[in-house]
Amino acid sequence: MMDKRDLMKRESESIFQTYGRQDVLLVRGRGARVWDSDGKEYLDFVAGIAVNSIGHCHPKLVEAVSRQAAALIHTSNLYYTENQVLLAEELNGLTGMERAYFCNSGAESIEAALKLVRRGTGKERIVAAERAFHGRTLGALALTYKSAYREPFRPLREAQFVPYNNGEALKEAVTAKTGAVILEPVQGEAGVYVPEEDYLRTARDVCDDRGALLILDEVQTGFGRTGRWFAKEHSGVQPDIICLAKALAGGLPMGAMLARGDIAGAFQKGDHGSTFAGGPLICAAALAVIEVIKEEGLVERSREMGARLKSELEKLKPREVRGLGLIVGVDLDSDCKELVEKALRRGVLINNTGEHTLRFIPPLVVTEEEIDRVVAVIGELI
Ligand SMILES: *Cc1c(COP(=O)(O)O)cnc(C)c1O
Repeated sequence: MMDKRDLMKRESESIFQTYGRQDVLLVRGRGARVWDSDGKEYLDFVAGIAVNSIGHCHPKLVEAVSRQAAALIHTSNLYYTENQVLLAEELNGLTGMERAYFCNSGAESIEAALKLVRRGTGKERIVAAERAFHGRTLGALALTYKSAYREPFRPLREAQFVPYNNGEALKEAVTAKTGAVILEPVQGEAGVYVPEEDYLRTARDVCDDRGALLILDEVQTGFGRTGRWFAKEHSGVQPDIICLAKALAGGLPMGAMLARGDIAGAFQKGDHGSTFAGGPLICAAALAVIEVIKEEGLVERSREMGARLKSELEKLKPREVRGLGLIVGVDLDSDCKELVEKALRRGVLINNTGEHTLRFIPPLVVTEEEIDRVVAVIGELI
């Protein structure tokens, strides 16, 4: 094993310096725990940014990936493969959508949605929410609110941004010229903002009224994260397009855009594509993830453990606790960047989304004891 300090130096000389990394070299994981190069154990309440929902190295996922890797890894979309069809059917069934387009990341699922809107409606205007995060590629970046992310890369086809959780603002902004409204059902990167119950319903009505499409970005909220299979279920609203990624393939890179059949019909052969997308290996991983979520009742578990996490955090008397299932944000008076570093030394991986906000997005397999230990550590640190 390479020495950590040596590795950090070599990283700084060999890799684009676009990431701010914590001072730790991770080598192994199991469930909600990971271990570093010194053998020290950490409780992982970041889960690869809401990715490792079934826990690290779940034996069913390892087995499915190993088996498929030995049979066939990649073929391209010039040919048929079974897993891709099985996964599309599974995702359509779970979401009530009709067609799946596979890609390799969250940002790519947004790009696919943008192209589909353009192709299907001929309209280019998109309404997005303030604080929204939809990814870093040029199209997705144009819908991402933080101006520090957008500024250096202008010009972009920027979205028209409206305050989140404000139905009246949507009614004003969305016109006959709007191609689509895109919303996160819970804003994750912003620091976990849960809208009022009727907000998505209003968005749906406004879109129907003005002839715009409704895109729900469930990249972070999908696959049980919020205590439902998909966060849209909390409101009962059915969008026209759903974007997925993060937890979808258990840590292997995969995204998907799902759409209603009539809308999907706007894409003709050759309109979009990707060399790697929906390959047999990645689809085997995603099928295994979905199976584990079902078998282990992880959607239900997310709801129960999320309630526990929230109520334990409330006891710390923070400024505010927000969340739904196992996506929870806490506003504190403390410097959260510093707190994240201190927590690391205490064996807890946690992430701050702002100077005064911590985000908790542990694997859905997390136990009560693990939750209590993390909250105790945070309590001691503040
Ligand atoms: C993470 C995220 C994205 C971008 O996904 P990448 O895989 O990093 O490109 C888009 N939308 C939401 C809501 C996200 O949380």
